[in-house]
Amino acid sequence: MKALFLDRDGIINVKADGDYIKVASEFVFIDEILNVLKHAKEMGYLLIMVSNQQGVGKGLMTQNQLEDVNNFMQEQLRGRLGYALDELYVCTDLEGSGSTRRKPAPGMLIEAIENNVLTPSACWFIGDNLSDALAGRAAGVQTILIGEFPPTAATVVVESMLQFRTIMHRIFI
Ligand SMILES: [Mg+2]
Repeated sequence: MKALFLDRDGIINVKADGDYIKVASEFVFIDEILNVLKHAKEMGYLLIMVSNQQGVGKGLMTQNQLEDVNNFMQEQLRGRLGYALDELYVCTDLEGSGSTRRKPAPGMLIEAIENNVLTPSACWFIGDNLSDALAGRAAGVQTILIGEFPPTAATVVVESMLQFRTIMHRIFI
């Protein structure tokens, strides 16, 4: 079994400027990701979100608010694609807490790999932060970084999701 792991903010939805997405009305899809999800699904990848959400740990939002936003995302995906993400992994631990789950630590990825009996080297993790690529590498999965990064920062580095769409057919095989 193989999976496409996805960071949430900056990959599935537009990042809130220096803030957390606290309510569903703040959740805006990055349109190109829908085609990426569709292609990966067609190629047999499980779709698994892996997201740091320390806004909960900081007390800036509640666990319920976080779940409402994620439920909204899943409902929207069901409506637009006919299916939602297969699993969601979220870490609300604070940076500096020594958490083994919070990215760049690979804990959430390792849980997902074990739960779904995945072959790490057949999996990809797409993110927009160096910590995504570091977590992916530590879990033995291949990595994609979207944004301005040195070419060696991940298995694949591209500037934009739009650009990634043009090469995804060579990656998700
Ligand atoms: Mg992100």
